Amino acid sequence: RLRDWQLAVREDFPILTANPGLAYLDSAATAQKPRAVLDAVTEFLSTTNANVGRGSYPWANSTGARVAAVRERIKRALGDDDLESSVEFVSGTSHGLRSVAMDWLPGLLTDGDEIIVPFGDHQANLTPWLEVRDALAKQGVRIAVRAMPVDPLSGDYDHRALPAIVNERTKFVAATHVHHVYGANMNVHRIRAVVGPDVPICLDAAQSVGHGPVSVADLDVDFVVFSGHKMLALTGVGAVWARNKRGPRFELGGWAGTPNTAGIVSLQAAFDWLDTVGPANIREWTTALGVRLTDGLSRMADVSVLGCQQSLTAESEVQRREGIVTFRHRKVRSDDLGFVLADEGIMVRADSHCQAGRDNTDRAVRVSLHAYNTPDEIDRLLAVLRRCEGI
Ligand code: PMP
Repeated sequence: RLRDWQLAVREDFPILTANPGLAYLDSAATAQKPRAVLDAVTEFLSTTNANVGRGSYPWANSTGARVAAVRERIKRALGDDDLESSVEFVSGTSHGLRSVAMDWLPGLLTDGDEIIVPFGDHQANLTPWLEVRDALAKQGVRIAVRAMPVDPLSGDYDHRALPAIVNERTKFVAATHVHHVYGANMNVHRIRAVVGPDVPICLDAAQSVGHGPVSVADLDVDFVVFSGHKMLALTGVGAVWARNKRGPRFELGGWAGTPNTAGIVSLQAAFDWLDTVGPANIREWTTALGVRLTDGLSRMADVSVLGCQQSLTAESEVQRREGIVTFRHRKVRSDDLGFVLADEGIMVRADSHCQAGRDNTDRAVRVSLHAYNTPDEIDRLLAVLRRCEGI
């Protein structure tokens, strides 16, 4: 049943009210924008737009103050009141992870050190770490990269494999908070418990910030990297939050010049909007929709859900899931399913999923949810799939 806040939420999204017959189920690719975000950007660009940093006139000062305020807003959104931490604006998660890799990681590593990186997460959280290894090797510094495998049955890291790849030369771990294919909320506490208190952990939070509560104090991680466009703000902006206690201070080397000021303004508006609904409510809602979907899918003989052994309805499974469900049909190719669903006004991702270590033949349909999705949309999707039964 729709809750009161949920009814109000849909009204907040102009693109959804303009298209009542369409079901947008691809928010993990990019999320829709509430009016408050669009208004904030228009207001900024039509009142005090100026460049940051160098001006001596009111608009420039106001833009500078606004950008500084968004840094503080991000810290607050991540539950951080630590004075040593910092926030750098980047163009998105891919850029943010790359800058942690290129600008910061080399200063931490010496010959013979080891780093642990995820194999089976988003490609953006693998390539930069391998590039750092290769760049250091050219300078005669040999770094071993250990693979932290994802267990395709549980969707979480294979934690039994972790102790075997951690040792006293382990200097850094890259991990993901919520998996972009399996929707699993990865057990970051267990990684911290195995590597101990002194090893920096960098978290790809592209699918968690703005989708549910994220607390850096609780997670005890050192970097949180996320994209604006997946958390209801604009494209072309994102941030790296850095704790700055377990290694050199993080400074962005790769982005000189004018930042995306309108994008930065949009981050503030998006966090404010998210707070009016409540990140915990959003997570509860998208998880419940995901369970509804998985429940329906698990009744279809030809459909298998990726990253979950039986049914997501088991209480223990539900706790760890965010609103992302990916599945395959044994008889219908996923891109064909994508076309069939698009014909019915249902937008999903039906393709390969930028997953490291998997080639492009490994296609599946991904349904990803946000606060504005409804049970009716899930039921419409299930009804189309039921029509494919018995093909
Ligand atoms: N990491 C994860 C987990 C993602 O889902 C994505 C986007 N699909 C990225 C990184 C890359 O984000 P962006 O394209 O915004 O740089």
